[in-house]
Amino acid sequence: MAEYRTEQKKMLSDFLKANRDQAYTVEDLVEKMRELYGENVPALSTVYRLITRLVEEGTVKRFVKGHSRRFVYQIVEGEHCRSHLHMKCIGCGRLLHLDDRVSDELLYAVRSSSQFSVNEEETVLFGQCAACDRKPGVEKQERGEKRK
Ligand SMILES: [Zn+2]
Ligand SMILES: [Zn+2]
Repeated sequence: MAEYRTEQKKMLSDFLKANRDQAYTVEDLVEKMRELYGENVPALSTVYRLITRLVEEGTVKRFVKGHSRRFVYQIVEGEHCRSHLHMKCIGCGRLLHLDDRVSDELLYAVRSSSQFSVNEEETVLFGQCAACDRKPGVEKQERGEKRK
């Protein structure tokens, strides 16, 4: 049983690693994985449980999708990601890592000017990456559907 769960978790993280530029809702994940792996894909409730574990472990980052209240999930690299803020490009959907030092300075500035302590892990800055900024007429997409 435990082994079975490990396999499912590996399937999930393999899928996310292969699509590291994309963020998915749990429903999307199940649907896309089913196209790839067929009936072996765990049920929605299991995927939800597994992804929650991955978020706790720091492998996956969770954020709110656009203006909705739905959560989307995307893989991030390693423990290190707990010590800086992230930036999400609304043009291509990529998640970028803010420099640790810049991140600290920013949070410190907010704390000292507004007596407000930002939750680093939950906060994602939305905007446009350098590559998308240079492209004229990039439509603002919630997700980078255009990339592979
Ligand atoms: Zn990071
Ligand atoms: Zn971009």
